[in-house]
Amino acid sequence: MRAFVMKGIGKVGFAEKPIPSPGPTDAIVKTTKALICTSDVHTVNGAIGPRENLTLGHEAVGVIHQVGAAVKRFKPGDHVLVGAITPEWGDAASQWGHSSQSGGALSGWKFANVKDGVFAEFFHVNEADANMAHIPAAVAEDAAVYCCDMISTGVMAAENANIPPGGTVAVFALGPVGLMAVAGARMLGAGLIIGVDSVARRQELARSYGADAIVDHEKEDVVARIMDLTGGEGVDSSIEALGGDLSFQNAIRVTKPGATISNAGYHGKGEFVHIPRMEWGVGMAEKTIRTGLCPGGRLRMERLLRLLQGGRVDPTRLTTHSFRFDEVGRAFEMMDRKLDGIIKPLILF
Ligand code: ZN
Repeated sequence: MRAFVMKGIGKVGFAEKPIPSPGPTDAIVKTTKALICTSDVHTVNGAIGPRENLTLGHEAVGVIHQVGAAVKRFKPGDHVLVGAITPEWGDAASQWGHSSQSGGALSGWKFANVKDGVFAEFFHVNEADANMAHIPAAVAEDAAVYCCDMISTGVMAAENANIPPGGTVAVFALGPVGLMAVAGARMLGAGLIIGVDSVARRQELARSYGADAIVDHEKEDVVARIMDLTGGEGVDSSIEALGGDLSFQNAIRVTKPGATISNAGYHGKGEFVHIPRMEWGVGMAEKTIRTGLCPGGRLRMERLLRLLQGGRVDPTRLTTHSFRFDEVGRAFEMMDRKLDGIIKPLILF
């Protein structure tokens, strides 16, 4: 089968690989649609170190090709969504409620990290009964594929932000995760959602997903403007969806004492992330910093699919481009250089 791989830091291309075979609890999925993620680009650029001949990608839907003898819920031919994060559910971290960290920090993240990812004609899923969900007939694949990571992570960012009903929320950066965090904050009952970004197309999308105000960090002082919008108090919740040192600092600055900063950003550069000491109340302002990696699991995927089925959110507005699998290299380059206002490229197999 054909696979699109990371050959080394900064190098990608196609490779021929054998179709994987399932262990007793595993499944092999024939890929139908996939999305490229900014974190795939980070990986290729060396954020998690070198990888050799590793298949990229972690966001995909498909049709089951084969299942192991112990798989109970799925059979060949079923249409499935596979979580970007595929935990080991018997691990202590999973039993503690932190399945994305099963096997060690971030180790629930296996695709294109510690095993071959989904940018191939077929891919392998561990613990299939727990890590996949059936796609309802009423939900299009193009929408369902957003549940793998973007909706799960964006909604997680809002859940972790501890938003009180009617509360004020600032979302730093309106990429796909930030936009889904806006949608998540809206669904969780936020009263005022402030989005921070300078790109017009992203600002417009944020408004369509529920942002009430937009702050353009290239044109205005973000902190002053957010303090102004909240009557000088600061927000009840802030969400960092960029992975930038300055935006993380600003998230802390605008969050009121006792409130929560939810980090969903991938801090892919530098040795340290800085906390502004005074605005953090010299460590005593009861500002909580919460971090999270995309949650996985069948139950969560089924709930997210229900949001799509009920028309609560339409993620397909994030799809700015689509490519055939043989053009995936071009899509990668466009994501890396953020060409033509690209937000999410859909890959068709
Ligand atoms: Zn992703």
